[in-house]
Amino acid sequence: MQELAARHVKIFDPFWSPRLAVNAEKAIFHQWEQLEATRCIDNFRIAAGEKDGFREGWVFADSDAYKWLDAASRIYALHVGPELGSLMDSLIALLRRAQMPDGYIFTYNQIHFPGQRWVNLQIEHELYCHGHLIEAGVSHYEATGRRDLLDLCTSAADLLVRDFLHASNEKACGHEEIELALIRLYRVTRKEEYLELARQFVERRGRIPLFPLRLWREFNSYNKRKAHVDELRKAHVAEHPEYAAFRLPEGNFARKPRFSRERWYLNALPGFYFQQHTPIRKQTVPVGHSVRFGYLETALAMLLRARPEANLLFTLEQAWERMVTRRTYITGGLGAAPEIEGFGGDYELDPEYAYAETCAALASLFWNWEMALLTKKAQYIDLFEWQLYNAAAVGMGQNGDTYLYNNPLAVHGGVTRKQWYVVPCCPSNLSRTFADLGKYIYSFEKDNLWIHQYVSNEIIVDVSVPVKIVIESELPWKGKVRIRVKPGIRKEFKINLRRPAWGAPSLGEQTTASGYDPRNAHYDTIARLWSSEGETLELNFDMSIQLRRAHPKVKGHAGKVALTRGPLVYCLESVDNPGVDIFSAQLDPASLRDEFVADLLGGCVVLHGKTTDGKPLKFIPYFLWANRGESQMVVWVNCKESE
Ligand SMILES: [Zn+2]
Repeated sequence: MQELAARHVKIFDPFWSPRLAVNAEKAIFHQWEQLEATRCIDNFRIAAGEKDGFREGWVFADSDAYKWLDAASRIYALHVGPELGSLMDSLIALLRRAQMPDGYIFTYNQIHFPGQRWVNLQIEHELYCHGHLIEAGVSHYEATGRRDLLDLCTSAADLLVRDFLHASNEKACGHEEIELALIRLYRVTRKEEYLELARQFVERRGRIPLFPLRLWREFNSYNKRKAHVDELRKAHVAEHPEYAAFRLPEGNFARKPRFSRERWYLNALPGFYFQQHTPIRKQTVPVGHSVRFGYLETALAMLLRARPEANLLFTLEQAWERMVTRRTYITGGLGAAPEIEGFGGDYELDPEYAYAETCAALASLFWNWEMALLTKKAQYIDLFEWQLYNAAAVGMGQNGDTYLYNNPLAVHGGVTRKQWYVVPCCPSNLSRTFADLGKYIYSFEKDNLWIHQYVSNEIIVDVSVPVKIVIESELPWKGKVRIRVKPGIRKEFKINLRRPAWGAPSLGEQTTASGYDPRNAHYDTIARLWSSEGETLELNFDMSIQLRRAHPKVKGHAGKVALTRGPLVYCLESVDNPGVDIFSAQLDPASLRDEFVADLLGGCVVLHGKTTDGKPLKFIPYFLWANRGESQMVVWVNCKESE
């Protein structure tokens, strides 16, 4: 299947358009201000020799500037705005001045360790940063047709080809990203070396001899280098006392179980954490850091689209199946083990320890999109929609200037939206994905058109003849969708409409850990001779409230349900339920009814219910929680099995 660029799809959706406007008009500018305030941009000024000061942020902080540029480019592709354009131009010019003549750019080494590079590839994210730079370059080129940032990126990529093509197996990054970036660069430049280097990077995984020993050595080296940087900072503060007042934002709060540190070592040393435990064709189980896992799988699926291989496809399908049946939260969130920011064991899905990082959901979206294009199976698109509405959308606050990093399913306190984090990987990742929403609605191949997402929009697409499609969707609040199909001439072609899994009955046999099974989705194919006058298809999806029960193997979920309606997961937030202990309340399922409330959280359908002792309960969509100050929240509520 082929995809369309987001800019060709004109979205006018009552649900999404206001959110895309917040993204384009507020979020992206807020993110820029935060990057300046936390001195991420200054790091490049210092590297370019234009500013005195001390480099701030984590070793991989450069990636946040690149990901912002990537998001800004995708937004710019939809709305050409002079203010955003000039911010992008100034950053691109700065990057050009900071980049070394041979294409290298990594401010940590350039400022603190000039002459050193590719030192600790497993843990310092040097190639990861170059990957985000390359992605920004591709997005900017696609948005503007300009080559300035793309040329900067190809010079960095050419350096990687020189230093890493046909290199030994330990020459691969501990945080995947460069692989998918190189494939995106290959797609626009058609330079085979980029594709080949991406292939070699993924093939190297799991083939490093004596990995635990090498990793240990890298940690020692990293710690020594960090100690050196700490000394430099002390000396800098002694010379510039006013500098001592500068503070980076806090990290994110994640509740952690006992033995977290031990578990981290047990996961990292054998390589699971980095997906370095076994060669890729044997990686049939999702393990380790869930963002890294998602980026690896995305790269593998992209590689398969360029070079088909049955064995590798089988591996990806196995890993996906294992993930959705045993290692995915009802929200679509990924990562049950906060200490590794990644996957726990099968059916290990504690709601309060859930890490479910926003970026992990986004990585899964990227992967599922590639899988859909590769296989034409509706299950991937169904999971995409579920994760988009729940696990991803929850990451950005209503006003676009606050974010959640990790997304637990039960919170007794301590988790709130913040303006920024010391590791701000999620905000711009979310912004670039929202900006690309149009891309994910359709795909096509010869005389076939697929409609994946029911978002109101208009497009002219070529299905062996130009066809105008207008979708008017009332999702996610109501189930009605109207699709107007108007070909230029009377013509035969096929339209494939996704029938979502959420319309299917949820009780009965538990096929997945969470009670939601994307494998129940399929496409309805409508093949006919379409009139040039235009025809309208009407869909009416079942929007009844569903009570989903977890698989019996998931600990602590017996006697509990999660409420879903359409593609949305619901939760109880304490602010809506005064006088009720939301963790011990017993839901009377017969009491449930839905209501659209226009003045709540921008307008949403709430679910009203009662406890078995008659107290009112009010459920809101999970993605809207934490927009009204610090509160408690729970997704899985007590509800006895009906007799
Ligand atoms: Zn993140």
